[in-house]
Amino acid sequence: METKRLFKVFGLFVMALAMSITVNAQSGQRKPTVYVLATGGTIAGQGATEVAAGYKAGSITVDQLLSAVPEIKDIANIQAEQVANIGSQDMNDEVWLKLAKRINELFAANNADAIVITHGTDTQEETAYFLNLTVKYNKPVILVGSMRPSTAISADGPRNIYNAVATAVAPESVGKGVMVVMDDKILGADDLAKTNTLSVGTFQNPNYGELGIVYNGKPIYSRQPMKRHTVNSEFDVTKLDKLPRVEIILSYSNATSLFVDAAVKAHVKGIVTAGVGNGNITTDMQNALEKAVKHHKIAVVRSSRIMTGPTAQWDEVDDDKLNFSASWFNNPYRSRVLLMLALTKTTDYKEIQRMFSEY
Ligand code: ASP
Repeated sequence: METKRLFKVFGLFVMALAMSITVNAQSGQRKPTVYVLATGGTIAGQGATEVAAGYKAGSITVDQLLSAVPEIKDIANIQAEQVANIGSQDMNDEVWLKLAKRINELFAANNADAIVITHGTDTQEETAYFLNLTVKYNKPVILVGSMRPSTAISADGPRNIYNAVATAVAPESVGKGVMVVMDDKILGADDLAKTNTLSVGTFQNPNYGELGIVYNGKPIYSRQPMKRHTVNSEFDVTKLDKLPRVEIILSYSNATSLFVDAAVKAHVKGIVTAGVGNGNITTDMQNALEKAVKHHKIAVVRSSRIMTGPTAQWDEVDDDKLNFSASWFNNPYRSRVLLMLALTKTTDYKEIQRMFSEY
């Protein structure tokens, strides 16, 4: 009897110990692992003084950058990698492919719970959309930048980085596609635009409105992304080391066929037009584009230089007759990204048109 009771007490003691170890182990493990992949930009920029307007983007390393926000270590296990250190005006296919492959690799190996990418703001919308279509995992991928260099008074980088990591580790951020976190806003990659050359609140989702906000170090979402993304996308760049060449050509009063002719001569695979209004182009330019499709098998997608609203099919331009596609809600920059990826799979304008209605 006595021995039985002793065993019972001992059993309870062992159970309690096991539970406390589990809880401790869990609380240790509960900190998610976030990989910070740094690419440069103003967020890593340095100016001569705290007030000077001039600075050089992509000057400090990822470790220096993160040392300004030690608080992120309280919410995540941080691993940092320097992928590039450039002003994003020089962003290119090579870095895009490197990023997409590295992110897919980290998620496939289960090494990361989320990714934060530090990036210049000039082409952040293009990189975000490219990754939105090529990352094959549902886990959060967040781009972050700043409008003021790291040396400026009230530099916006550290707060943006904290908010990006806080958003990345939140369970509700899973399955939302690639996002940008800046100025306390959470923006979807499917409708992202830089709207102001200097303001810290430069990024917007001009058609659909922002996905949410970051408040008190936590994301608050108000909507889901509108378009197909990440895991759901049909694009796979794992085996690619370059992308088809696609150029953007602007239309304006008196625009001639000059740049279309040059693009044809340069053997581009696709042309996106930044047309006037609902993606209209001058007659001269349209004739040249028609020839580019017919005689050179170049894919043409009509987009618009207008910030909001769709470039709709069959409005003033008969897309089916010309074998053109219309970009719907994708601006010329996202259209270029999507057309590059589309051309890795097909040159059929009907298929390309389908992709533009879905992504
Ligand atoms: N030129 C810079 C860049 O895109 C601007 C910025 O980051 O805000 O890298």
